[in-house]
Amino acid sequence: MSEAGYRIFDIKRYSINDGPGIRITFFFKGCPLSCIWCHNPEGISRSQTRMYTASKCIQCGACVHFCPSHALRIVRGHGVVCDSGLCTLCGKCAEVCPTKAVEMAAKAYTAAQVYAEIAKERPFFSASGGGVTFSGGEPLYQGEALPELLDYIGRAAEKDGYRLHRTVDTTLFAKPELVREVAHRCELFLVDIKVMDSEKHRKFCGVPNEVILENVRMVASEGAADYLVRIPLIDGVNSDDGNIEATASFLASLDRLPLYVELLPYHDIGKNKHTRMGTVYNRDNVPMAAPSEKTIGNALGIFKKYGVPAKV
Ligand code: SF4
Ligand code: SF4
Ligand code: SF4
Repeated sequence: MSEAGYRIFDIKRYSINDGPGIRITFFFKGCPLSCIWCHNPEGISRSQTRMYTASKCIQCGACVHFCPSHALRIVRGHGVVCDSGLCTLCGKCAEVCPTKAVEMAAKAYTAAQVYAEIAKERPFFSASGGGVTFSGGEPLYQGEALPELLDYIGRAAEKDGYRLHRTVDTTLFAKPELVREVAHRCELFLVDIKVMDSEKHRKFCGVPNEVILENVRMVASEGAADYLVRIPLIDGVNSDDGNIEATASFLASLDRLPLYVELLPYHDIGKNKHTRMGTVYNRDNVPMAAPSEKTIGNALGIFKKYGVPAKV
């Protein structure tokens, strides 16, 4: 069990997009990828992340006064500016901020605390067929601590007299042994497949994709858990026929098809979070856009041609 606790940067309740039924979704801090369109950039770094929302700041100066590292100053027209070279991410500024203009993204939870949050949502599970989803960031980046947590919450639910549906939303960029351990402790994987060409994958996501594809193949053939595939569909990155054909043909070649493929049209939701983190969205100005209806229809047609169920 993780002695330092599980670093979680968000908990979403009543979630209906992270697996079957009504779910509670935990977002784990830390991801080995760095996709340029990431919706949750505050979840990429394993360590703490400080977020500042200028529109909530009343410029009271409390954070500046209490910062032990003298990293903060108020700059006219910019609100509170942080010198990241001095900031130790101690979180004092968030503690004293009266308006929550400053927040530290991650909080540590023990396994018992994670289960306590899940248990609060139990009334919604049986009626809807829901359960818990571990997302991120990348939950498999927790290493061995993740199977331990899945075991723990499964046993705790059994003691409480019900069977908990556990979903893991993952890139599968992890050691195959770990993927296998997790597969035996969850009911469903939501697997992200972003780009089929490994060089392009490295360019857009920071890592090559061979490990991911091998793990998808393993999950499909070993059959321990169900899986479905989610693809962020982005003009300029992966919505071209060549990539969609390659994805569909890869999935069709597996021993077991995914339950379905879900296409998630591009959204630049991560932009605002980068502003709050003091970092830059899409630093290299890669042209990215939401796909047209025609492109989406075309992609669905390609999956159909390969016999792979797909939807938007
Ligand atoms: S996190 Fe700590 S060191 Fe960083 S700005 Fe806030 S108070 Fe200062
Ligand atoms: S404590 Fe909060 S409201 Fe006050 S100056 Fe700092 S960020 Fe703004
Ligand atoms: S895998 Fe997901 S969480 Fe990680 S960087 Fe990519 S989009 Fe963000």
